[in-house]
Amino acid sequence: MSDAPLDLAVVGLGAAGASLAHRLAGTGARFAVWEAPASSAARTQERTWCTWGPGAGPDAGPGPFGPLVAARWSRLRVIAPGGAVLHLDLGGWRYRMLRSTDVERAVRARLAAAGVPLVEAVVDELVPAPGGVRVGAGGPLARAVLDTRPVPLPRAPGTTTLLQHFLGHRVRAARPVFDPGAVTLMDFRVPQPAGGVAFGYVLPTSEREALVEYTEFSADLLTGAQYRERLDAWTERAGFGALEVLGTERGVIPMTDAPFPASDVPGVVRFGAAAGAVRPSTGYAFSVLQRQADALAARVAAGAPPVPPRPHGRRHLLMDAVLLAGIASGWLDGAAVLWRLFERNPVQRVLGFLDGATGPADDVRLMASSPRVPMLAAVAELGRRRARGALER
Ligand SMILES: Cc1cc2nc3c(=O)[nH]c(=O)nc-3n(C[C@H](O)[C@H](O)[C@H](O)COP(=O)(O)OP(=O)(O)OC[C@H]3O[C@@H](n4cnc5c(N)ncnc54)[C@H](O)[C@@H]3O)c2cc1C
Repeated sequence: MSDAPLDLAVVGLGAAGASLAHRLAGTGARFAVWEAPASSAARTQERTWCTWGPGAGPDAGPGPFGPLVAARWSRLRVIAPGGAVLHLDLGGWRYRMLRSTDVERAVRARLAAAGVPLVEAVVDELVPAPGGVRVGAGGPLARAVLDTRPVPLPRAPGTTTLLQHFLGHRVRAARPVFDPGAVTLMDFRVPQPAGGVAFGYVLPTSEREALVEYTEFSADLLTGAQYRERLDAWTERAGFGALEVLGTERGVIPMTDAPFPASDVPGVVRFGAAAGAVRPSTGYAFSVLQRQADALAARVAAGAPPVPPRPHGRRHLLMDAVLLAGIASGWLDGAAVLWRLFERNPVQRVLGFLDGATGPADDVRLMASSPRVPMLAAVAELGRRRARGALER
């Protein structure tokens, strides 16, 4: 790296950093990327990212990553606690799965081809300096830094935080039990936690192979043994029979309406999950990161400060806050609300909402399809929480 200051330093090559780096590489932007070495505790584990949207081919995305999509499906399934099944045809849309390892490999190759430095190091400090920010004490100077390193879970009076936590197994079944054409998005035939929601999730890649996950939205994590028991009990109930475990994916994703604080270092802008990109009511972030990365790349090209647009609109954040307060307090039966959303609305409207892409008219229709009295109780609960929070501040 030369001594001249960089225009931009990108810290982290996860979903946010990789999405931006892919777009900037080859544009002439003077930037470099820092990523924690694979051997370090700071390094994010491999994961599977799913998104959805219009278009069936590799040019349909997500963002520039369409050619990396490892599997795509045209049908979804949602299963009620009592076993009723909704079969949802996505029409011209697809539900898509990417592997973080494929994205990282492709972006590394693209950076190397464009001559963009990729520094394998744990960044502990971002130090304000004349003309910008030093990446690490005494490290290279950048005019601005986009920091995607994880931050502690924000808490604020009057807000609600649940965790989306799960155990997934990549499995091979003894007999053909999966429908490779359909994702089971939510199978609610599992015991529901108090103040939370639980469901099974199936991403089938063939009649015998799938990623099967037990997922909970709740306040507290389980022990390793509890996750395994619940996953096994549900796969048995689902009738998958004997399953050979080929791999494991665990995750904890914060679902919160608490604001994510900005960096207090001048010139450092947080981006990604650390800046609230994860949708509070769903745990999804990959699509919104594509929208933000497009906007950021355009700003960098225009020589504007690299500040991403807000990840979520105010109306959607308010709706999420109602859902979180309602579910956490027990006024809303999360499984019933989610089931009814899919039962009473076109699937593209629900998926559009989960992605933050719906307009006011669709949002009103979605709210109107929820159970009315519990939803009003959830709105009142949010009001109480916010009023209490205002007093505590
Ligand atoms: C297991 C799991 C599955 C998920 N699945 C989905 C999904 O299917 N769809 C969806 O939309 N969302 C999903 N999410 C939510 C969200 O999309 C992901 O959390 C996403 O990875 C967030 O991207 P990010 O870049 O902000 O953070 P990360 O992907 O975690 O990237 C942060 C990067 O910074 C690096 N880093 C950390 N500390 C340092 C340091 N000190 N120095 C240098 N580098 C550092 C890490 O190694 C990592 O590469 C999932 C989340 C989890 C946890």
